[in-house]
Amino acid sequence: MLSFWEKDSYYANTDVIIIGAGLMGLWSALELKKQRPSLSITIVERNSTPLGASTRNAGFACFGSLTELLFDEAKLGTNAMLDILEARFKGIQKIKSHFSAETIQFDPCGGYEAIPASHATAANLDDHIQTLNQLLSPITKLDQTFTNQSAEMRKIGLKNFDHLVGNVLEAGIHSGKLVNALSKLVMEKGVTILYGLEVKDWESERNGVQIQMQNGLKLCANQLISCVNGFTQQLIPSLNIVPARGQIILTNAFEHLTMKGTFHYDEGFYYWRNLGNRILIGGARNLDFKEEETTDLSGTEKIRTHLLDFLRQHIVTHENIVMDQYWSGIMGFTPTKEPLIEEVAPNIFAAIACNGMGVALTPVMAEKLAIQVMANV
Ligand SMILES: Cc1cc2nc3c(=O)[nH]c(=O)nc-3n(C[C@H](O)[C@H](O)[C@H](O)COP(=O)(O)OP(=O)(O)OC[C@H]3O[C@@H](n4cnc5c(N)ncnc54)[C@H](O)[C@@H]3O)c2cc1C
Repeated sequence: MLSFWEKDSYYANTDVIIIGAGLMGLWSALELKKQRPSLSITIVERNSTPLGASTRNAGFACFGSLTELLFDEAKLGTNAMLDILEARFKGIQKIKSHFSAETIQFDPCGGYEAIPASHATAANLDDHIQTLNQLLSPITKLDQTFTNQSAEMRKIGLKNFDHLVGNVLEAGIHSGKLVNALSKLVMEKGVTILYGLEVKDWESERNGVQIQMQNGLKLCANQLISCVNGFTQQLIPSLNIVPARGQIILTNAFEHLTMKGTFHYDEGFYYWRNLGNRILIGGARNLDFKEEETTDLSGTEKIRTHLLDFLRQHIVTHENIVMDQYWSGIMGFTPTKEPLIEEVAPNIFAAIACNGMGVALTPVMAEKLAIQVMANV
């Protein structure tokens, strides 16, 4: 039984309940508070710290790689591709406007994409670079976002790739410190975060919504926003969100490491960066899509070994490359593979954060979500 005090404080009825204290839930709370500071908001998070993608990712600010942007352009058209890119650009600016580079270890290190000779872009790489730079320059205010760095590959510390394209706007970020700093900011604005409380079910009511917790508690609010990303299937099966595990390994510290920055290969299925003198590498989900379609965080020896072999094949070093740590995170993929904001029932919204790209996109998605939610409050 709750005490009167508990019922009248932690578990009191609120204007908005958000499920999930990852980047999407946190930025949404901050944005709603910005729109209306008097709104009462509670975030309910089932773990003692957020546990999905936001604190388990690779820590790339993720502006966008050349082949990915060209793919988006071919699929969605030039304007839609530029809209996505502008959202990421603004998202990164927004993160920087809220937190000092030191607080979140924002490192504007630049990045690279390795491209095989067999890729459709490889034959006319310089033309593609030039065209994309021209399209991007009104957004980035740069003449050369992308440059052909293939001739510099060994100097950059890589080997056995065909082409290398540099991107000055890629950056690294400390994912744990970002989520931690954002959580503190949200709480300073008056948002309550209840950790260790799992939502089992929800029910739309005439004047709002009731949510049922694993421990039998019930909470009521006018609006509900689900930000549970790769775990959405359990709460809102109709959205058909497919979980996708991303595995990461971190190497030993090298005495000397030339390679610095963030790196992508094979349409982003492989991604790696330096973390001081270590290398963090993740991906290779495409080795076994079906096995990685899971919310199980344990990971597999097969992918860890493969990632280590990949590094041995492509990093220029005379030193041993040894795995020191490993972990997994869970992404959520929408049927279109694009971010999704949807009112799934009266007063109940879902925001599915951007597949493997949420760091830069969640701050901007939160603005769109807040406009929709505010229309109902
Ligand atoms: C391995 C990996 C690498 C990645 N690398 C990058 C990268 O470098 N750059 C980039 O931009 N993006 C990257 N991403 C994607 C990015 O991390 C995500 O897009 C973003 O963090 C999604 O945030 P979110 O808040 O939507 O989801 P999450 O961070 O997954 O948050 C969902 C939260 O909901 C909680 N929850 C789930 N179910 C319930 C329930 N029933 N009740 C209460 N709480 C619940 C979970 O515990 C979790 O904390 C990566 C993702 C992974 C997995």
